[in-house]
Amino acid sequence: MRLVDPDRYSALKATGKLPSPKGVALSIIRLLQADDFRIADLVHLVQSDPAIAGRVLYFANAAAFGRSRPIISLHRAIVALGSFRVRDLVIGLSVMQGYRYGLCSAFDYEGFWGHSLATGIACQELADTAGIASEEIFTIGLLARVGELALASLFPDEYAEVLRVAREGGRDLVELELQRFSMEHRELGASLLCEWGLPEMLAQAAFHHENPDAAGFADGSRVQTLTHALSFASALGHLCMVDEEGRWSLLPGLLARAARLGISGDTLNELVDRMVGRWCEWGAKLQIRTQSLPPFAEILAATPPLRRMSITGLASLTAETPRSVGKKEADKAPTNGGTDRRANGFPHLRVLLIGIPLPELPALMQQIETLGHQPVLVDEAEAYPLADSHPPAEIIIADLSAPRLRAAEFCRRVRQTPHGKDCYLLFLLPPNGEKRATEAIKAGADDVLTKPINDQALRAHINLAARMRAMREEIHRERQGIMRSTDEFAIAQKRLLQDALTDPLTQLPNRRKGLDFLASELIYSRTTGMPLTCLMIDIDHFKDINDTHGHAAGDAILRHLAGILKRSTRSEDMVFRYGGEEFVAILTRAPKHNAEQIAERMRMHIEKAVFRWNKQRIPVTISIGLATAGRGVDSTALIETADTALYKAKKEGRNCVVCSPGDV
Ligand code: GH3
Ligand code: MG
Ligand code: MG
Repeated sequence: MRLVDPDRYSALKATGKLPSPKGVALSIIRLLQADDFRIADLVHLVQSDPAIAGRVLYFANAAAFGRSRPIISLHRAIVALGSFRVRDLVIGLSVMQGYRYGLCSAFDYEGFWGHSLATGIACQELADTAGIASEEIFTIGLLARVGELALASLFPDEYAEVLRVAREGGRDLVELELQRFSMEHRELGASLLCEWGLPEMLAQAAFHHENPDAAGFADGSRVQTLTHALSFASALGHLCMVDEEGRWSLLPGLLARAARLGISGDTLNELVDRMVGRWCEWGAKLQIRTQSLPPFAEILAATPPLRRMSITGLASLTAETPRSVGKKEADKAPTNGGTDRRANGFPHLRVLLIGIPLPELPALMQQIETLGHQPVLVDEAEAYPLADSHPPAEIIIADLSAPRLRAAEFCRRVRQTPHGKDCYLLFLLPPNGEKRATEAIKAGADDVLTKPINDQALRAHINLAARMRAMREEIHRERQGIMRSTDEFAIAQKRLLQDALTDPLTQLPNRRKGLDFLASELIYSRTTGMPLTCLMIDIDHFKDINDTHGHAAGDAILRHLAGILKRSTRSEDMVFRYGGEEFVAILTRAPKHNAEQIAERMRMHIEKAVFRWNKQRIPVTISIGLATAGRGVDSTALIETADTALYKAKKEGRNCVVCSPGDV
C-alpha cells in the first residue's frame, strides 16, 4: 500500500479542503487515542449529537449480533458494537454527512454516496458469509473510495476534466490522476483512513480492492479475504446504481467476484436481496438516493437487452440478405419460438401484422412468407389486449394509419410485456406521413417504413430483426455458460477456503483459523471489557495409546475426542486443533468461574466417554490449562499462560484442570 508523502499530505491538509470527520466524530477520535478512555465518556460524546446517537442505536440493532431483543439504551449499543467500531461508524457517517455535495462538476456526489452506502451494507452482509468476523467493515465499505472524493474536493475543476477524459476516452483513471496530480485516489484515500485511525488492514483492503489479485497478499490471509470481500461488495454497489442494461454487463464480473469468495446459488441470491432491502432502508434514513431492484434470481435470468444496446451496430449488418425460400418451405416453419434454423443461419420468425388495411395485406403477407417467415394477422381492435397478453412474436409491424392505433400507448404496452420488451417494432407510415416518424421512434419503435413498402427495405428490416434474435440467443447461451462455470468455480473455491482453515483429521478449525478467531475476539474483549478465556487441552499419555493400539487407533480417538470437545462448548466459542494431540478452546463472554465449569465439564465428558478400538475399550483423559485475558494481552501471551497452567496440570497428576492465577 502506498501513502501520500507526509509533507505533501500536510500541505494538502493545510488547505482545509481534505474531507475530514467533524464535530462529535473528531472528539471521539481524540478520546480513543488515549489508552485509558472510559466508555462513559464515549457514551456522553455520542449522546451530545442526537442524530448520530440515533444512527448508532439503529446500527447496533441492525447489526444484531444474533440477539433477538432490541437494544434500547445507547450505552448497551456502544458496548455491543465496541468503542472502536462506534468510532469508525461515526467517522463514516460524519464524512458522508459533510460531503454530500461539492464543486466538482463531473463528480456524481449523489451516485458516489449511493454506491458507497450499498458497498458498506454489502460488506456487512458478507461479514458472516465470507467469514470476516468484523462489523467494522461497514465503515470501510462506506469509505473505500474516499480518495476520489478527496481529489474532487481538493481540485474540483482539474479533477472534473480528468474524470471526463477517463470516461469519454476510456482511459485509466489512476494513470490520469498520477499525470495530473502526481498522486492517485487510492493512496490519498489510504492516507486519510490511516490518519483517522482506522485499522491498517482496512486501509490496505480499501487501497487494493479495485484490483485484489495484484495486491500479492498471502492466500487465505484475513487481509486477502477482506480485500476480495470489499471488491465484491463494491461490485454489488455498482449493480445497485445502474439500470437494467448496466446490470446485464456487470453480471459476469460480479459473479466471478462472488465465486472467489465461494458464494453462489441461493446463498448469493439471498445475500443480494437482503442487502438491497437494507440499502433502501438505510438510504431512506440517511437521505441517500436508492432504487429498488428485482430479485437477484430474476436479474440473473433476464434476457440480454440487445435491442437497445446494439441497434446501430446491427443496422450495418443488414447489407447481406437471406436466401429467399418458397412458400412450401415457409409453411413448414415451426411456430414454437423458432428453435430450428434455416440453412442460411436465421431462425424462422413470427411477424405480427397489426392494423394493415385489407387491400394491402396479401402483398405484405406474401413478402413475409417469401422471406421464410410466418405472418400472423391481428385485428387492430385486438392490438391492445394482445400487447398486454402474449405475443411471442419476434417482429411486430403496425400500421400508423389505423385510426385506433396510438403509437405511444401501443409501444408502452408492448414494451411492458416480457416478449414485447425485446421484439422488433416496425411502424408503417402512410405516404407523406414522415412527420409521424419522430413520434413513433420517440415512443419506442425500432424503425419506420413509409408506404408503399419497398421490397428491399422490408427485407432489410426483417433480416435485422433475425440477426438481433440470433445474437441475443448466442449471448444468452454464452452467459449461461459463464454462470454455470462461475457456479462450479464458487463451489470449488468454497471447498478450498474451507479446507485451508479446517483440520483434515478432526474437521475442527485449524490453528490458523483458531488464532485468527482469538485475535479478533481479543480486540472485541478489549473494547467491550467482556471476559475471554483460553483453554489449552492435551491428551494424557497419548504416546502410550499410539504405542499400544497403533496410530490408526490414535487417529480415531483424536476424531472422537474432537467431537466431544466441540459439543461441550457453546456456539459462540471455538475449539480448534492446535497441533498433534493438543486442542485450544476459546470461550467468549464467559466470566472466569463459568469458564472453569466449562473446562471441568469437558474433562469429565472425556473421562466418561467410551473410546473403543478393535472392540477393546481405551480409557482416555485430558489435562486442561486455563488462562483469562486481561486488558491489552496478546494471543501469544494468553496461549503461553494457558500452556504453563497445562504443564502444572500434568505435574499434578493429569486428568485435571488448572487455572492460572488472576488475568494475563
Ligand atoms: P502427556 O500426558 O505428558 O501429554 O503425554 P503424551 O504421551 O500425550 O505426550 P507426548 O508429547 O510425549 O506425545 C504426544 C503423542 O501424540 C506423540 C505423537 O505421536 C502423537 N500424535 C501427535 N499427532 C498425532 C496424530 O495426528 N495422530 C496420532 N495417532 N498420534 C499423534
Ligand atoms: Mg502434547
Ligand atoms: Mg499429551
